[in-house]
Amino acid sequence: MTVNLLDYDREGLTDFLTGIGEKSFRAKQILKWVHQFGRSDFAEMSDLAKGLREKLSKLAVISVPEVMRDHTAADGTRKWLLSVGANNGIESVFIPEKNRGTLCVSSQVGCALACAFCSTGKQGFNRNLTVAEIIGQLWLADKSLRESAGSQTSLLAQHGSFIPQTLQSPRVVSNIVMMGMGEPLANFENVVTALNLMLDDHAYGLSRRRVTVSTSGLVPAMDRLRERCPVALAVSLHAPNDALRDYLVPINKKYPINALLAACQRYLQVAPRDFITFEYVMLDGVNDSASDAKELIKLVKDVPCKFNLIPFNTFPNSEFKRSSPESVRVFRDILIQAGLVTTVRKTRGDDIAAACGQLAGQVRDKTRRAGKVNLESMR
Ligand code: SAH
Ligand code: SF4
Repeated sequence: MTVNLLDYDREGLTDFLTGIGEKSFRAKQILKWVHQFGRSDFAEMSDLAKGLREKLSKLAVISVPEVMRDHTAADGTRKWLLSVGANNGIESVFIPEKNRGTLCVSSQVGCALACAFCSTGKQGFNRNLTVAEIIGQLWLADKSLRESAGSQTSLLAQHGSFIPQTLQSPRVVSNIVMMGMGEPLANFENVVTALNLMLDDHAYGLSRRRVTVSTSGLVPAMDRLRERCPVALAVSLHAPNDALRDYLVPINKKYPINALLAACQRYLQVAPRDFITFEYVMLDGVNDSASDAKELIKLVKDVPCKFNLIPFNTFPNSEFKRSSPESVRVFRDILIQAGLVTTVRKTRGDDIAAACGQLAGQVRDKTRRAGKVNLESMR
């Protein structure tokens, strides 16, 4: 049986290589070929001994999910729908901005946490993504974006099959947010291994500040992330009190707001940024009043934080409506006047329904809910 080398971070790859009688330094070389030069054919890895290349082609593959759709919106937002087998699809989205390019990455097929306003949650849960499927989203996006920019192809033509490090085209993806489908901390080990690759200088070399995990508030896993791989943290708060949060984010019944905020405080001791980002979806008439904003200010007074207000993205059969621009503005201004840095998420890529936090994909539910494929999202 062959292994998929995309399932391994540097430690895993080193173990695999020593296990087949190879030197551990080969791991760094292979990581570079795969993650920096976007190669998947061992024959091209010209600084590996021929014997090793042959051995690898028998024992291993470098395999990413198949691209089912690849679409770019008028504002440059690009969305990939990827097949992960058994009629399941996941999405990743690239959002270009002036000074950065952010890739929104999925961590599960569906999500079991069933937040009331989330189309992923409504579709049910199928399975965790493998490391290869998580890092494969970055591998594919990085490769396609660089190829679209034309740089890597022309470098290859100029310099043969080996691209000197100094001549690498600049990365287009500068930031990662784990805000696609799924709850990243519910797929903890695979997500941490993928994060290790995002941060590894021999792979993607991103700083911990530029990689953000978004969680609905799995408190014990937040503590484990703090120990294992403290990247930037975003927490989906969405409500100023437990009664409302129990309804919007049902996991709140297990880990209520005071436990969640205490976990944020612990996380801040090691976080790469000195604040937690609180995400707050703006739902018309549900959590968007001036008194909700004031209650929120009191709630978070001891937690260094920033707020990101997300106008609700509607989807078919959803019971909620997006807050009016006026209520969003009033809500934002109340927070800002209380000294809280607050941004409103721009709705991007609307023509392809690609706004991050609203990735639909295609889920064959394996839980008690629904059980049907969401064809709506495939349009
Ligand atoms: N499971 C994680 C990360 C994925 S969702 C989490 O819940 O944090 C990324 C963000 O998008 C979360 O804040 C989530 O609450 C929000 N979101 C989900 N559905 C949305 C919708 N329909 N409109 C706007 N934001 C939404
Ligand atoms: Fe899952 Fe996040 Fe959607 Fe909640 S908002 S159902 S945790 S993906």
